[in-house]
Amino acid sequence: MSDTSNLRIAVVGGGPGGYAAAFLAADLGMNVTLIDPELNPGGVCLYRGCIPSKALLHVAKLIDESRHAKNWGVEYSDPKIDLTRLRSWKEGVVKKLTGGLGVLSKQRKVEYVQGRAGFESSSTLRVSRVNGGEESLNFDRIILATGSRPAIIPSLKLDSPRVLDSTTALDLNDVPGTLLVVGGGYIGLELGTVYAALGSKVSVVEMLPGLLPGADRDLVLPLNKRVEKIFDSILLNTTVAGMKEESGGICVTFDGPEIKEREKLFEKVLVSVGRKPNSEIPGLQKTQVQVGPHGFIQVNKQLRTDDPSVYAIGDVVGEPMLAHKASHEGRTAVEAIAGHKVAFEPNAIPAVVFTDPEIAWCGLTETQAQKENREIKVARFPWGASGRATTLDRTEGMTKLILDPESGRVLGMGIVGAGAGELIAEGVLAIEMAALAKDVALSIHPHPTLSETVMESAEVFFGTSTHVYRPKR
Ligand SMILES: Cc1cc2nc3c(=O)[nH]c(=O)nc-3n(C[C@H](O)[C@H](O)[C@H](O)COP(=O)(O)OP(=O)(O)OC[C@H]3O[C@@H](n4cnc5c(N)ncnc54)[C@H](O)[C@@H]3O)c2cc1C
Repeated sequence: MSDTSNLRIAVVGGGPGGYAAAFLAADLGMNVTLIDPELNPGGVCLYRGCIPSKALLHVAKLIDESRHAKNWGVEYSDPKIDLTRLRSWKEGVVKKLTGGLGVLSKQRKVEYVQGRAGFESSSTLRVSRVNGGEESLNFDRIILATGSRPAIIPSLKLDSPRVLDSTTALDLNDVPGTLLVVGGGYIGLELGTVYAALGSKVSVVEMLPGLLPGADRDLVLPLNKRVEKIFDSILLNTTVAGMKEESGGICVTFDGPEIKEREKLFEKVLVSVGRKPNSEIPGLQKTQVQVGPHGFIQVNKQLRTDDPSVYAIGDVVGEPMLAHKASHEGRTAVEAIAGHKVAFEPNAIPAVVFTDPEIAWCGLTETQAQKENREIKVARFPWGASGRATTLDRTEGMTKLILDPESGRVLGMGIVGAGAGELIAEGVLAIEMAALAKDVALSIHPHPTLSETVMESAEVFFGTSTHVYRPKR
């Protein structure tokens, strides 16, 4: 290992990519400065993304379960929602976690600068502090972790407090009577789930023929059935042609072959049509960093840009725009700077949609295999055959393994069902460890748990799952 103790490292952006990079660099003995406009590290993920959305989804799930409980002989009255307390609970979660990162930062002696950075040259940053003052700082290496922001469709740009993006939707200023979610991706569906549980009549409009375009269709099916119940309407193959503010709401004009009502008034509209990388960093043209056609900063497998002293990680370098991808890239970049022989080339980056039911997948998907004309075998275990799913009254789920038909090697995993987001980690481990179906089937899983569905889907591959009877052909 080379001596890195004298290296001066700047990390621009304090999200899960940036702070993971800064902390590892400090652990490896480097001299680290972390620059971000917020009071503490956290970025989009902690301040206005993963964490606040999951805090609210937890409450949504509780409300939903309390309604469902009458099927099990327990009846609750309708929940009374105190928005001020709900907001302050969510904000408390954010404060606790970001404050904790601030403490970890200090403990590691990371110099945290609350401000914004731009380039003067490949090795000099111009930093403007939030509380005033500007300075030029020199570094040996700079890691860009500036993340992403909500994408805006110019034709749908309407400057009105009734038009929300994911950030303002998470502020939870009120619970509108009616809410239109534009975009059937994971962020729109998660936030739609929250507002529906709190009492809004939620409609979702998606221009493609299905929700969650990136996921295998069999995983989306049980979610479709559930959201059809909790949402007022789901408009597929439909685009929003225009929006205008009227008294009492936003009048939305729809376009598409299946529309029943061309115009409809919604109290609020949440536009959730994807995210854009924050690659418009001031002075970036003074470096050799290259930005690709979709706005992502171009990097190699060590996360190094075309400028030898500048690295870039996280949402700003490409899909999937997920927190765990960002932090792993951050750690890889730091190791590369430290001279370790590393490359960011994972076999499985898990994706989780925290709706109810949850959907999660990793590695090869069926859709991808079909596109690539790749031979696979899919072993599905329906949760109707799971003891644990039955005790939870959540038998609509399914676990599937995507396997190499010859060797039985696990190439991918997909799960739909309660807690899928926790279960998928087993798939990641199996794929990264090059596990075979036999390894998964022979690993004793605790009973009664949903994790048994993973083991039994491996047994399905051999046609010998204990709880699935398949007549011999
Ligand atoms: C509503 C919502 C829910 C989400 N849920 C999940 C989830 O459940 N799981 C998941 O994995 N991902 C989720 N994501 C995505 C996740 O938040 C991002 O993938 C992740 O935050 C990316 O991390 P990052 O480090 O690349 O950048 P970010 O977290 O975007 O942080 C970038 C930081 O850089 C700062 N910055 C930008 N420019 C400068 C500059 N010039 N100088 C200084 N600082 C600058 C920004 O202010 C920001 O603080 C969600 C996102 C949203 C919006």
